[in-house]
Amino acid sequence: MNSLCWVRRDLRLHDHAALSAALDEGETTIVFNFDPAILDALKNKQDRRVTFIVESLEEMEKELQKKGSSLLISYGDPANEIPRIARELGVKKVFANRDYEPKAKKRDEFVEKRLEDDKIEFHQFKDSVFYEKHEVLKGDGSIYKVFTPYKNAWIHRFENEDKTVSDFACALKNLRQFKNKENVLSSDWHEKIGFIRTPALLTGGTSLAIKRLKHFEDFMSGYKEQRNYPAIDGTSLLSVYIRFGNISIRDMVRAALMDKNEGSATWLSELIWRDFYQMLLDAHPELEHRAFKPLYDKIKWIGGKEEFRAWCEGETGFPLVDAAMRCFNATGMMHNRLRMVVASFLCKILLVDWRLGEKYFAENLLDFDLAANNGGWQWSSSSGCDAQPYFRIFNPYNQSEKFDADGEFIRQWCPELAHLTSKQIHRPDMKLAPDYPAPIVSYERNRERALLMYAVVKAR
Ligand SMILES: Cc1cc2nc3c(=O)[nH]c(=O)nc-3n(C[C@H](O)[C@H](O)[C@H](O)COP(=O)(O)OP(=O)(O)OC[C@H]3O[C@@H](n4cnc5c(N)ncnc54)[C@H](O)[C@@H]3O)c2cc1C
Repeated sequence: MNSLCWVRRDLRLHDHAALSAALDEGETTIVFNFDPAILDALKNKQDRRVTFIVESLEEMEKELQKKGSSLLISYGDPANEIPRIARELGVKKVFANRDYEPKAKKRDEFVEKRLEDDKIEFHQFKDSVFYEKHEVLKGDGSIYKVFTPYKNAWIHRFENEDKTVSDFACALKNLRQFKNKENVLSSDWHEKIGFIRTPALLTGGTSLAIKRLKHFEDFMSGYKEQRNYPAIDGTSLLSVYIRFGNISIRDMVRAALMDKNEGSATWLSELIWRDFYQMLLDAHPELEHRAFKPLYDKIKWIGGKEEFRAWCEGETGFPLVDAAMRCFNATGMMHNRLRMVVASFLCKILLVDWRLGEKYFAENLLDFDLAANNGGWQWSSSSGCDAQPYFRIFNPYNQSEKFDADGEFIRQWCPELAHLTSKQIHRPDMKLAPDYPAPIVSYERNRERALLMYAVVKAR
C-alpha cells in the first residue's frame, strides 16, 4: 500500500523509525512541510537554522534523485497541507516520528484529527529519543525527578532488557519514482519562505554529521577531561545534527558503547541527560512557561535592561562571560561549560530573570532544543528539578582561571585583552586594558544580593 512519510526534526534517510515502517508498508513518498507558524516567529530573516534545514533537505534530495525519487516540499499549515498531500497521493497511511515539544504535540493531534476525517491513519514512532518517558520509571510507576537514579535505571534497562541498539533499516528501493519540479535543488526555498541563505559554521546534512562522529570517536576516550575546556576541540559538536536528526540518537549511543572507557561512559551520560530533559518536558509541558519549583517564580529580579544588554553583547567587563557571548553571537554555538557560566552569571550576578536569557538562547542557538535549553536554564537558575542549589554561584573569575588558564579562548574573542599575560587576563586591571569595558557590577557585592533575592525560597 502507498504511504507518506512526513519528516520534521529527523532529516536523514537511514536508521529512521517512521521511514523504515513506511517503506515496509509499500511505495513511499517523503514530504517536508515549512510551517509558517514556526517561521513567522523567527524575527531574524537570516536565521542560520533555516539554512541548516535547507542544506539538510538538499542532501536528502540528492540522495533521493539517485534512487529515482524526490522530496515533496510544501509550505502552509500542516493541519491542511499533510491531509491535502495524502489525499492527492491517495495514501491510506501517514508515518512520522514523535516530537515531544508541547506545540508539536498539539500540531500532531490536529493533523491526526484531520487525517481521520479522510479515513487516513496517522502512525507515530519513537525515534528522536532513546527511551520515552514511560520506558524508564520508578518502582511506583512515576517519572524520575533526579538525574542519577534516572541514569542508573536507564542503563539498567538497556543492559538487562534491551541489550542491543536497534537500527531501523530503510529500504530505499521502495521509494515512489517521480521528480518534484519544485525540489530544493532547483527552487530557492529560502526566498519562497522569506529568508536569506546564511550558512553557519556547521553545514547541515548526514554526511557531515557522520564525519564529525567518526572524528569524535578518535578522541572520545579523553572526553571526561577535555570536555571542560572551551579552547580545545574536546566535545562532539553533534548537538545541531541530533537536533535536526541528520544523525540518529542510536548512531550516537552505538558510538558510545563501541569502546568502553571513562570518556565514552561520560559521553553516554550526556546523551542520557538529553533523554532526561526530553522526558521531563513531555511529562511537564508547563515547564515551557514556568519554573519546575513554583516557589522560584516568586523571585523579584532586580537586574535591568542595561545589565541584560551588556550580557547579550559581551560587554559586561567579565572576560570569560564576554568572550563566550561574543563567540555565541558570531557563530550561534557555545561550549557547555560556557553555557553554564553565562547562565549562572545572568541570573545570579546580574540578577536578571533567567527567562530572558533562555529566550535569547532560543532565538540564537544553532542547536536550540526546547527541552535541553529549558533544562539547562532551570538547572543554572536552580529552579529546575535536580538543579544546582541556589547558593551555588559560579565565580566567573575562578571559572576563567580553571577552564581557560592561558586565556586562549578569551584572547580569541576579546582582542582588547590579547596583550595581557595569562595571569592578568582573567580579572584585568582597567589601566592595562583601556579599550575593554569595566565590570558593570561588583561580583562580590552582587553575589550577596543574589543570596538575599533567593531568600524567598530559603524562607520556605
Ligand atoms: C543554559 C544551557 C542551555 C542549553 N541549551 C541547549 C540547547 O538548546 N540544545 C542542546 O542541544 N543543548 C543545550 N544545552 C546542553 C549542552 O550545552 C549542549 O548540548 C552541548 O554544549 C552541545 O555540544 P556538543 O554537541 O559538543 O556536546 P557533547 O558534549 O559532545 O554531548 C553530546 C550530546 O549530548 C547532548 N547533551 C550534552 N549535554 C547535555 C545537557 N546538559 N543537556 C541535554 N543534552 C545534552 C547533546 O545532544 C550533545 O550533542 C544547554 C546547556 C545549558 C547549561
